[in-house]
Amino acid sequence: MPPIWLICLLVFAVTYLINIIYISIFYHRALAHDAIILRPWLRSFVIRSGVWFTGIDPKAWACMHRTHHTESDTENDPHSPLNFGLFGTFMGQLRSYEKNLVGLIHGRKKYAQVVEDLKFPVSWLHRRKLWHLPYLIHLGIGIGIAYPFQNPWVAVAYFLGMMSHPLQGWMVNALGHAKGYRNYDLPDNSRNNTLVAWATLGEGFQNNHHHHPGSPKFSVRFWEIDSGYWICVLFRILGLVKFRTPAHSLPKA
Ligand SMILES: [Zn+2]
Ligand SMILES: [Zn+2]
Repeated sequence: MPPIWLICLLVFAVTYLINIIYISIFYHRALAHDAIILRPWLRSFVIRSGVWFTGIDPKAWACMHRTHHTESDTENDPHSPLNFGLFGTFMGQLRSYEKNLVGLIHGRKKYAQVVEDLKFPVSWLHRRKLWHLPYLIHLGIGIGIAYPFQNPWVAVAYFLGMMSHPLQGWMVNALGHAKGYRNYDLPDNSRNNTLVAWATLGEGFQNNHHHHPGSPKFSVRFWEIDSGYWICVLFRILGLVKFRTPAHSLPKA
């Protein structure tokens, strides 16, 4: 049998990838920006299953993210490090997400109008205050997977990977708006952070993305690697998605 650390690493890698494909490809590029169009059955599956896989409601996430674009790095930005500090953004983003979620559940216009084109409700789990259920289920699955190995770290690796959204979000929201270089001189403080981009399927190219939020591709220079875009290309080859707009790739320093 392979060493236990290798098993933990593999379990974490697979579950982390599942989580970030949901957030970056489905929630972000498809639902929030319409940069890619999911096949109707896939869109329906993502909307229904997203909260179970990630613990995050797709509509509330899209609402918060669109506000991040319209109010980027102003005092109304839901997770700018200029408002919360580099490390404070970790909790700041979670509090802002909760505000968006509660605002949508109560039908507050400020939030509802941001996502009025998304014709599906906030998940019933959140409407019935059962947000913790996916977390408990994944904890149970993690323990089940770890049992044959008789090692609790396998369960820890599974749970942290499946529920890695706060860490991914912090890297993108905090580091992607504080540390890195810029290809475009935008009024916000967005940055391209290569290490974050490698860890988040290209999401770390925040400066590029803020310049072309409708592009399915977040890299613009030949040496910038947006692995999320290539997953989108694979999905397009498989007939799962279409691109609404061509990928923007013209560098403009
Ligand atoms: Zn941003
Ligand atoms: Zn975006």
